[in-house]
Amino acid sequence: MSLIVMKFGGTSVGDIDRIKNAAAKVAAELHRGNKVAVVVSAMAGSTDQLISYCRSISARYDQREHDAVVSTGEQVSSGLMALALQQRGLNARSWQGWQVGMHTDATHGKARILNIEAKDLRESLDRGEVGVVAGFQGISDEGRITTLGRGGSDTSAVALAVALKADRCDIYTDVDGVYTTDPRICDRARKMKRVSYEEMLELASLGAKVLQVRSVEMAMRFRMPVQVLSTFANEIGSDLPGTLVAEGNEKMEENPVTGIAHTRDEAQITLTGIADKPGIAAKIFVPLAHAGINVDMIVQTASSNGVTDLSFTVGKTDFDRAIKVLTDEKPSIAYKELLSHKNVTKISLVGIGMRNHVGVAATMFETLAAKGINILVIETSEINTSVLIDDEYTELALRSLHTAYGLDTPEA
Ligand code: ADP
Ligand code: ASP
Ligand code: MG
Repeated sequence: MSLIVMKFGGTSVGDIDRIKNAAAKVAAELHRGNKVAVVVSAMAGSTDQLISYCRSISARYDQREHDAVVSTGEQVSSGLMALALQQRGLNARSWQGWQVGMHTDATHGKARILNIEAKDLRESLDRGEVGVVAGFQGISDEGRITTLGRGGSDTSAVALAVALKADRCDIYTDVDGVYTTDPRICDRARKMKRVSYEEMLELASLGAKVLQVRSVEMAMRFRMPVQVLSTFANEIGSDLPGTLVAEGNEKMEENPVTGIAHTRDEAQITLTGIADKPGIAAKIFVPLAHAGINVDMIVQTASSNGVTDLSFTVGKTDFDRAIKVLTDEKPSIAYKELLSHKNVTKISLVGIGMRNHVGVAATMFETLAAKGINILVIETSEINTSVLIDDEYTELALRSLHTAYGLDTPEA
């Protein structure tokens, strides 16, 4: 008998029929003789709706009350799922974050899980009940409800699997696995049977939203096998039809590029005409850091006559604040112009194999050049190569690179 955590995302519980469909999958796992704890997201669209209610009262809302409001989406879906399971004759009970002892820090809106007690839940599972846990939410030391950041139910599920010492955490979603690139953009994307924690972490942090980054970090730290699979296909998790995120890779001798991620979440800022002298970067980046703004890609042009341009990206959600900080600091930085570009996409090649291959980046630049796509910024690390391009070329760039690195599914 295995203990499995089954997580259902927003689309998977998007309406009553879908909740019934998810309940049938839970019943099928139980029928196999497995124990099951379920984690649910809010019904599709409901978190967006709740956030917009808060924003419509004030642009600068109290984060604690924001969490009190947006966490309710999961309260609704967990109760409905418990009802759907009961309707099938199962002994099911819903659990809110505070009821399972999901302790987090007090960083409202993006709280981090500190520990999970889960004692009562474990006893309930041992009595043969099915626990349905509300994802995305926890409780701070002050006894206030917190939320874990967008996509946070993935992290709730993996954390619960670790706390319960489950055998596997199954993430049911609207695609049937992790693909070489977003299958909604590239129809030649190939489903992977298996992907290593390290590469999944890289793909997720560079924009592949199929798993929240922190859920992958946690799975990797505790060596928890995670399977991504479809909520709409007939198979159930124990048949292992999806993509297993675990240690090691699919192939021994691998392609240098395992997958391609993209994100539209960043914006580019360029400061022109700055003095090329020691201390100038600190004058720009220290005030941004003090304002809690993360800077990602950075590029400086070669200086001429002691003057240079510096370009970098920040998250789109931080963009307005970054502009304000840099405008306030203009006298100190002494730049000529501040230019900004919001319609950009960052495209990233990911692969552990890159460590041992030369020419990976060169192929990327050639492929983009052949399509007339201009590269705005380049960034490389040991296992990724990223470029910033104009947003309008996203699809073209993803598809061409996917073909260039031999990732396409063979024609049927
Ligand atoms: P859920 O609501 O179930 O949590 P998400 O929308 O958060 O689902 O994640 C699933 C989505 O992730 C898919 O619909 C797909 O468009 C997107 N996605 C991005 N990159 C990938 C990838 N490499 N493989 C699979 N899906 C991906
Ligand atoms: N409901 C939350 C969100 O939409 C958490 C999740 O779905 O994982 O971000
Ligand atoms: Mg998600």
